[in-house]
Amino acid sequence: MSRMPKSSRLRQLRGLPEGLGTTLHYLWRRRVTVDYPERQRPVAERFRGLHILDRYDDGLERCVGCELCQAACPAHCITVEAAENPPDHPFSPGERYGYRYEIDLLRCIFCGFCEEACPTGAIQLTPRHDLVGFSRQDFQVDREWLLVPDPRTETLAEEGAR
Ligand code: SF4
Ligand code: SF4
Repeated sequence: MSRMPKSSRLRQLRGLPEGLGTTLHYLWRRRVTVDYPERQRPVAERFRGLHILDRYDDGLERCVGCELCQAACPAHCITVEAAENPPDHPFSPGERYGYRYEIDLLRCIFCGFCEEACPTGAIQLTPRHDLVGFSRQDFQVDREWLLVPDPRTETLAEEGAR
């Protein structure tokens, strides 16, 4: 084993108070980090993060399966398939609804073109950016993942809890 030269050891010893000095220097300064995820920094007003599929106030889905978002997407990462609304239990106010809706978030460039193209305000990009996953599949999000909660079922759950 090679022995460390005396000059190197002296340099290391001198580094110790220097390092402690740097720590003390910053100890009482205002922190630049936050306790994420409990505290989060506000994002820029025009930040475009994770998508949602929105509903109307009565719980019906805004998406009518027109596929305009799919056509507008430059990354070809949206897949939409429409189906006829069941007359006794419509999902949306239109004739059709987005029966299948998938986004490959690994290909998405968060440009917001889908949101701009949507005539009903269904697909929206939110300030959320906290998506983690352990496989490619975790970033393939579907209709169930995207849809915001139905206010009708939430009201029923609240009434049941009373
Ligand atoms: S944000 Fe852009 S890239 Fe992402 S799904 Fe929408 S249109 Fe496609
Ligand atoms: S999200 Fe909007 S643009 Fe896309 S299929 Fe649904 S209604 Fe059409």
